[in-house]
Amino acid sequence: MEVLIEYFSNITSGHRSAILVGGLTIFFLIENALPLFTNSYNKWKHSGLNLFFTLTTILVNFLMAFILVGASDWVVANGIGLLQMTSTNVYYHLIIGLLALDLIGAWLPHWTAHHVKWIWQFHLIHHTDQHVDTTTANRHHPGESVVRFAFTTIAILIVGAPMWLVFLYQALSVVLTQFNHSNVKIPEWLDNPLSFIICTPNMHRVHHHYRQPYSDTNYGNIFSFWDRMFGTYIKVDNSKLKYGVDTYMDAAETQNVGSLLKIPFAGYRNHIEYDHEEKL
Ligand SMILES: [Zn+2]
Repeated sequence: MEVLIEYFSNITSGHRSAILVGGLTIFFLIENALPLFTNSYNKWKHSGLNLFFTLTTILVNFLMAFILVGASDWVVANGIGLLQMTSTNVYYHLIIGLLALDLIGAWLPHWTAHHVKWIWQFHLIHHTDQHVDTTTANRHHPGESVVRFAFTTIAILIVGAPMWLVFLYQALSVVLTQFNHSNVKIPEWLDNPLSFIICTPNMHRVHHHYRQPYSDTNYGNIFSFWDRMFGTYIKVDNSKLKYGVDTYMDAAETQNVGSLLKIPFAGYRNHIEYDHEEKL
């Protein structure tokens, strides 16, 4: 445990980047070998677009990282926040801290992005991808990256998270989001037990179905408990899914950087009414 704390207390930007690139590479190779959907698309063009938004996400997070460090140092020095006020046990900090950071720093902003129109306008870019794979994981508009960063900072203040825990949480968060967006065919016998603890690909994919109410389910990132607790959990047959978002299905609007960057500032589009609701 001391080794883990030591490593994440002093983790360099290089190692943080290596975790992101390493995860992306591993899941990219696995989904090529064992794909769920085999429909052909220009994987290089698709990856290029998503990697551009991954780079802007990294940039926003690196530029603002000093705020996270400042917030964490401040709560630890002043004994503020849930962990600091309840125990000094590092295992307690690890488990309760990861759970609370995942809830306040990931599940809550994601749920909010689907229920607050101006944040949805930014989050839309993530949902416009009609070929979800591991490169979709960090396809976020820079504006959404800032919103998510703000929630992470608030989470650190509420949780009282030490810096080693914040970096560990961020590393797990990156790898899990790459995993649960990957186009990997996972057998039910493996996915089912895993999905009681973590968000698996079979669980998360329905969130990328192009229509409500399915896109308003399974918001989780690391842990799957929150969707089960808050009534947003659903299990569907993944083979029937159609990725994208009903209001932006035109490729001309969703396959180049310039038009995607402008989406938040174009007018809000209402979801398209069902003639009869499709059941998955
Ligand atoms: Zn979403």
